[in-house]
Amino acid sequence: MLQESLENFIHSEISNLQAAGCYRRMKRIDSASDAKIFLNGKKVINFSSNNYLGLASSRFLKQAAVQALTEFGVGAGASRLISGNLALHEELEKKIADFKKTESAILFNCGYMANCGLLGALGHREDVIFSDRFNHASIIDGILLSRAKLARYAHKDMDGLRRLLIRHQNSKGKRIIVTDSVFSMDGDLAPLQEIVALAREFGASVMVDEAHATGVLGENGRGVLELLNLESEIDIQMGTLGKALGGFGAYVAGDSLLIDFLVNHARPFIFTTALPPAVIAASLKALDIVQNRPDLRDTLLSQANWFRKKLQETGFNTLESETHIIPILVGGNDTALQFSQKLLETGIYAPAVRPPTVPKGTARLRISLMATHTLADLEEAMDKIQMVGQELRLI
Ligand code: PMP
Repeated sequence: MLQESLENFIHSEISNLQAAGCYRRMKRIDSASDAKIFLNGKKVINFSSNNYLGLASSRFLKQAAVQALTEFGVGAGASRLISGNLALHEELEKKIADFKKTESAILFNCGYMANCGLLGALGHREDVIFSDRFNHASIIDGILLSRAKLARYAHKDMDGLRRLLIRHQNSKGKRIIVTDSVFSMDGDLAPLQEIVALAREFGASVMVDEAHATGVLGENGRGVLELLNLESEIDIQMGTLGKALGGFGAYVAGDSLLIDFLVNHARPFIFTTALPPAVIAASLKALDIVQNRPDLRDTLLSQANWFRKKLQETGFNTLESETHIIPILVGGNDTALQFSQKLLETGIYAPAVRPPTVPKGTARLRISLMATHTLADLEEAMDKIQMVGQELRLI
């Protein structure tokens, strides 16, 4: 039973969320994270998954996972530095480093832990970390953990970043610029060429989070840095294995010196049980598929272009999306929820995203496409989005 003051605190926090239209509830899914799912018992077309290439239920990944499970058991049993470090972990780290063309790589148990571990270890009190306002929560939390000064610039505002770099150019400590490469709620790209140029001018380092780009963008699926030919210009690359790669986990790729430092200083690496063998084996297989099946990302991106263009032609605001993540800006929290709910009643699941995940007044539907959506899925969804959009007078 909760002690009275604790119970009062929790009640009041929940009431505040409810009053602001920000209270959240989980929806139950009874199927794999595919293009069609069973949500609360009903079959719907799914536009909410980060399983962009459909690999989460690939039979090749499942086979690899089952084989590793049978051979090495369910859990790794210990942290990497004690006795949880299997040959499979080392093989995956080597494969990621080869894929990303870096000297070395290190696994983390998820992207949240990678960003907290990396930034928490690198940043010190006298340092300044420059961060786009729309960077993922795990980046913000990593910066807060590090106790470095957080210098936040407006979304993609390179004049703003320059002003901050000038303001802090004589600071004693390190200067690190951190950005998502594809922004998770907007689907737009960071201006990485300008960021790299500014970093050079001011002697700062650059860290890029490729969570939503790994496996999807660039000729070989290495991400936005490959797309923009900037891989050799970046100090630290981070990405996740739980989105386009269909499994779970994350990596940081870079110089061996950096990786050695993280093994010794990143607390979310040191003090946690190693990823399970089946998960590692699935990621090894996913990396093969990503490299051998460029058609998957071509399908995803061309369908995304078609879908985005149709939405825009109909009069929806898709912000600056250029990728497979397409927001439909609504504004108010209640209207966004209504939009999502009415679509769900027609068999389309497009989640409403509200503050604090996005800034106040910019609640939206976040549509994420998958290579496994059929054209019929997309056409059906488009008709229904237009119908409900008209009903709610959004277009
Ligand atoms: N970085 C970004 C940009 C993300 O969008 C996410 C997850 N949505 C993460 C990191 C965290 O990754 P994970 O889900 O593996 O913890």
